[in-house]
Amino acid sequence: MPSIEKTCRSTSGCTITPKYHPNLTMKAVEWHGSKDIRVVDRPRPMITDPQDVILKVTSTAICGSDLHLYLNYVPGLEKGDTLGHEFMGIVEDIGSEVKNLKKGDRVVTAFDIGCDRCVYCTDHKLFSSCDSTNDSKEQEKLYGHRTSGMFGYSHITGGWDGGQAQYVRVPFADSNTLLVPDSLPDEKVLFLSDILPTGWHATEMGEVSKGQTVAIWGCGPVGMLAALSAQYKKAGRVILIDNEQYRLDYAKKHLPGIETINFSKRSTLEQLKEMVPNGPDVAIEAVGFHYSRTTAHKAQMLVGLETDPSEMLNEMIMAVRKGGIISIVGIYVGTTNGFNIGAFMEKGLRMAGGQTPCQKYWPILLPLIESGKLDPSFVLTHTMPLEKAPDMYKIFDEKKDGCVKVILKPNL
Ligand code: NAD
Ligand code: ZN
Repeated sequence: MPSIEKTCRSTSGCTITPKYHPNLTMKAVEWHGSKDIRVVDRPRPMITDPQDVILKVTSTAICGSDLHLYLNYVPGLEKGDTLGHEFMGIVEDIGSEVKNLKKGDRVVTAFDIGCDRCVYCTDHKLFSSCDSTNDSKEQEKLYGHRTSGMFGYSHITGGWDGGQAQYVRVPFADSNTLLVPDSLPDEKVLFLSDILPTGWHATEMGEVSKGQTVAIWGCGPVGMLAALSAQYKKAGRVILIDNEQYRLDYAKKHLPGIETINFSKRSTLEQLKEMVPNGPDVAIEAVGFHYSRTTAHKAQMLVGLETDPSEMLNEMIMAVRKGGIISIVGIYVGTTNGFNIGAFMEKGLRMAGGQTPCQKYWPILLPLIESGKLDPSFVLTHTMPLEKAPDMYKIFDEKKDGCVKVILKPNL
């Protein structure tokens, strides 16, 4: 729960800007430990800064990134943190300096919080590298710099409350929200908050172009939307890799022309070599660090010798053609041993990674959705009331019930 000081509303002598309403509450999804997700009543957020808006959330999704939190693999989580970085809603309240929005507007937000004032946001359009929305000293120590703040994603990304809730505060609202037309249902635009821009970003970093062969590790929602983006860019062959056959079948059904590899019986490298003897031009990592299954990694992690596995990255280094590109959108948080730097260097490869600057891609992606040229909604398999969050985290994590992507509705 928020500290008592932060709910203070006194105007006489109190120097703390109140963040939470003194008597109005809302339902929200809180993290309480490994696999311990609770839906609780907590105070509603209030406008804290003149550039804020308060959104009444209409839809919010669970992301593969939330699974890293669910399984307690990300540093900086605190019991009672509100989760959720993929959400949209209606502007309920508005700060005095917000220029582009009014009450009642329907908007999607970006999971990465940009200020639209620092050099990363303005000159480079790297909103996910914003210099001013994350005050975590811990992250600076780990990475040399701080990335942007993120909604509902631990205190190393700023400790911002998430949007798996009835209401959420969105800072720098002009920069971090996108007005969406009423003609498009939530299901078609919600994924502009993260996974559609992320799938697109994966193909941008991989410089995917016409005729190329693209192999994608991970056939979750992000992998599938990277495949959709690669097909839109007219890649010659797109190969999705996973060990969950139901996800590969789902992708085949919704993305005609896709090829698949199931590595549960035979290794990815062996199968990929047969399918593409010279190797794919681009390899995309859409898995993330917590899926490692080698005992070597587990043992090293246990004694604090590494936090992240190198197995997926090494597979990609071995698989991709000489001079090819590796694009990493799957999340990694720390250090890894056994990384095949030799093969990477000798084969003349390039590698790029990053959290997605969603705002950069909105001007391209919203018109593609509006015109019907891209429809990310096919990944959605489950729509549930917010109260069902604990069950849905479990089902999504355990890959039960044909689950690919979950939307939670606070008002269902
Ligand atoms: P997900 O967990 O639903 O999907 C990951 C898939 O990878 C699963 O289907 C799993 O079976 C598969 N997998 C496991 N081990 C594998 C292996 N060795 N080879 C191939 N596939 C394997 O998650 P998602 O929502 O699709 O997200 C994928 C990754 O993208 C996560 O790490 C998530 O945190 C990350 N992500 C990054 C950004 C960003 O901005 N960079 C944004 C959103 C999500
Ligand atoms: Zn996400």
